[in-house]
Amino acid sequence: MEKRRSLIAGNWKMFKTSSEAVETAQKLVELTDGKVSSDIMIAPPFTSLVPVSDILKGSNIALGAQNIFWEPEGAYTGEISSAMLVSAGCEYVIIGHSERRQYFGETDITVNKKIKAAIKANLVPIICVGESEKERESNNTFFVLDKQLTKGLKNLALNDIKTLVIAYEPIWAIGTGKTATSKQAQEIHKFLRSLIEKNFGDSLAKSIRILYGGSVKPDSIKELMSMPDVDGALVGGASLNPETFSKIVNF
Ligand code: PEP
Repeated sequence: MEKRRSLIAGNWKMFKTSSEAVETAQKLVELTDGKVSSDIMIAPPFTSLVPVSDILKGSNIALGAQNIFWEPEGAYTGEISSAMLVSAGCEYVIIGHSERRQYFGETDITVNKKIKAAIKANLVPIICVGESEKERESNNTFFVLDKQLTKGLKNLALNDIKTLVIAYEPIWAIGTGKTATSKQAQEIHKFLRSLIEKNFGDSLAKSIRILYGGSVKPDSIKELMSMPDVDGALVGGASLNPETFSKIVNF
């Protein structure tokens, strides 16, 4: 079977002012001009979405947000709605990143609400799941991932999640320089795909894209991408530098 089209996504986290973001996006557009074999997405901070969106117009790179709130509008100080993201030019939104779960009280229940809001607005949700080092060491990895994915996708129908992307991001590998081995990533991606098959059927399991995230660098991407169930990467630190990120994109 032909492999799914890969997606290389950059999560800029809380880095870069608007002018820095514009400069980085401009360089990245130049470096990825022409034929690329993957879809590319970058997710700058909210304050840079509009200016970066202008830079990305007509390029190979899509815009994403790092978070979303589930209500359409209202008295929710500090939050950003799906319509706001769409009007800023976003096509993707990262949901349930481990940093949001760890520092901002994100739960499987809020992840589920956010995925529903994103789908309603035709945004492509990237749901992040991943175990901690402690959970891995106590052999709870599969249990934790099953819970995160099943609860995150609760009450969603096959049609709703056709475009959904899953990002497997082991917490012990994020920002630590410790990448999961390609064998470890493959084992988990295969498991996640089997969960999709169990809950949504074979056709979605075959088409859904599962990204790996956790200290991906230009020298580790090729090996990861050679795994049959690894369909791309969610890249944090290494996406901040356009030269480095473009090397990952052109793995
Ligand atoms: C991330 O933030 O999603 C991530 C994977 O970070 P890093 O690549 O820096 O480990």
